[in-house]
Amino acid sequence: MTWRFLGGSFGLLAGMAILVVLTGSARTFGAMVVGLIPVVGAAAWLHRQALLRVDTSRRTEAESFARILQGLSRSVSPAAIVESMVGDLGRVTAADHCVVAHLDGDSGSLVATLVSMRPGVPSQTSALPAIDLVGSADRDPDRVVERIAGAIEAFFGIGNTLTVPLRSDRAVIGAITLSRRSAEPWPAATQRVLAGAALEAAAALQRVDSSRAMAARASTDALTGLPNRRYFEEFCGLIGRHRRSDDDPGVGVLMVDIDWFKRVNDTYGHDVGDQVLRAVAKAIAETVRDGDVPARFGGEEFAVLLRHATRQVAIEVAERVRVAVDQLDLSEWRVPGVSVSVGVAVGARHDEPIGELLDQADRALYRAKRGGRNQVVAA
Ligand code: GH3
Ligand code: MG
Ligand code: MG
Repeated sequence: MTWRFLGGSFGLLAGMAILVVLTGSARTFGAMVVGLIPVVGAAAWLHRQALLRVDTSRRTEAESFARILQGLSRSVSPAAIVESMVGDLGRVTAADHCVVAHLDGDSGSLVATLVSMRPGVPSQTSALPAIDLVGSADRDPDRVVERIAGAIEAFFGIGNTLTVPLRSDRAVIGAITLSRRSAEPWPAATQRVLAGAALEAAAALQRVDSSRAMAARASTDALTGLPNRRYFEEFCGLIGRHRRSDDDPGVGVLMVDIDWFKRVNDTYGHDVGDQVLRAVAKAIAETVRDGDVPARFGGEEFAVLLRHATRQVAIEVAERVRVAVDQLDLSEWRVPGVSVSVGVAVGARHDEPIGELLDQADRALYRAKRGGRNQVVAA
């Protein structure tokens, strides 16, 4: 509007200048210029006020966005990411409710958190069945977002919503939904903040996912899927520090080595050798108890950490492992069968270092080999 004021004033001035040139009457011109001065002054003042308002609203928008970013950068789990943004987002967008829904890789469901801006109303987190809503690259993203929005509206009973998707590189991984009582269109500034927040939240969620995947890769043996030696040793260290209770009978270690494995490779080829390693790993993992930790220690050697085990129990578990491998059906690869030798060591004293137990189990394993293989020897 202020532009129209100014433009109109300049138009009038130009018109009058033409009139003066045509009629030669400078007095009328002078009077009109005097009349125009307050009009132009008012226009300039209004214009300044309007610019100030735009500036303030941009600054508020930038500040709210910065706050959201700050919260996100400190969040290391999906739940923390959601928590850090719903509150801020609700406040800066003047929404009554804010819902963040994201696909949870572990449970395969859509975890939705609703935060109400009304004082005293607790936040609410629920797992909505993801059905076939998200995660699929070939699905029309707009339809997916529509369906997520529909599911959120129905589940939480909210209306007048504004929903933006959370996208990974390949697919929709969730959505943010704002809701309020007023049915008026959402302000453009709200839409901008929401779109920016969605971009950042999706990036943060992906960052957390990929660092989890990386951590899993770093601690897992690629061939067998068992924990690797690094993980095993870290875990042993952890157990060592927390093994203090009086009713804990002790901790046991099994060292399991495949007998004559070089011959398997030489006779049937390295690829078959790999399959045999996988089969043995699976047999060991299925034989030990839930709380025990099997690992691929290296090459054709496995270790098992037995928690809360007496010497007797450890020997029994070792014998079960030996029998399980001995009975493996490897005919799929034309291998008649393999056996393992097992060394057992148990630390009854709580402060016995696990490194020491591993050495004892290793020496027991050596004796099992010397004793003819396919047998269990306890230190
Ligand atoms: P022993 O009964 O004394 O343990 O005899 P062994 O032949 O099993 O022992 P040795 O240490 O001589 O040979 C181990 C073999 O395991 C040699 C190596 O090529 C093989 N091996 C180690 N890692 C892998 C693997 O990832 N895949 C395959 N296919 N073979 C492996
Ligand atoms: Mg061997
Ligand atoms: Mg070996």
